[in-house]
Amino acid sequence: MVSGSIVVSWIGEGAGDARVLDPVRTHIEREFERPTRVWSVPERPTGTLDERRRQHSSRGLLVWLGERRPADAARVIGVTDVDLFIPILTFVFGEAQLDGATAVVSTHRLAEGRASGSLARLIKECVHELGHTFGLVHCGTPGCVMSRSPNVRAIDAKGARLCPVCRDRYRIASQGDL
Ligand SMILES: [Zn+2]
Ligand SMILES: [Zn+2]
Repeated sequence: MVSGSIVVSWIGEGAGDARVLDPVRTHIEREFERPTRVWSVPERPTGTLDERRRQHSSRGLLVWLGERRPADAARVIGVTDVDLFIPILTFVFGEAQLDGATAVVSTHRLAEGRASGSLARLIKECVHELGHTFGLVHCGTPGCVMSRSPNVRAIDAKGARLCPVCRDRYRIASQGDL
């Protein structure tokens, strides 16, 4: 394993669920070949709610997370249950700093059309957003987790793993990124 750990943090309004966060952690650790842990951040974000939209600014959450990133963590991904937006879109499932240290994913819209859990969708979106933090861009390879996914059908249609091309890109980017 390369060094430079990844931290998964629940930052939602409701209570975090280990049955959700543990499998997310496990999958991230395997996919990015980095030690990954669930970290309980003691506070909750403030100042990210847009009162008119009743949604939270994903960019604001990225800034908030970045200010709290543990010193030994190369990346921190926040998982939340609040609805996220960026100004040009009605909503986003998540956002990441391209080539940056932080990512955020929301469960809020992932349950659409599903009576039972949406864990598989959450795992895919977490890997996708973390991929962006390592400089990966959207990929046209069918099934690749870095495929663009503007709706849940597109999430369901893709896999949870990097395709060989994205994996090679990740490994190269990762070498200089500890
Ligand atoms: Zn993306
Ligand atoms: Zn790919």
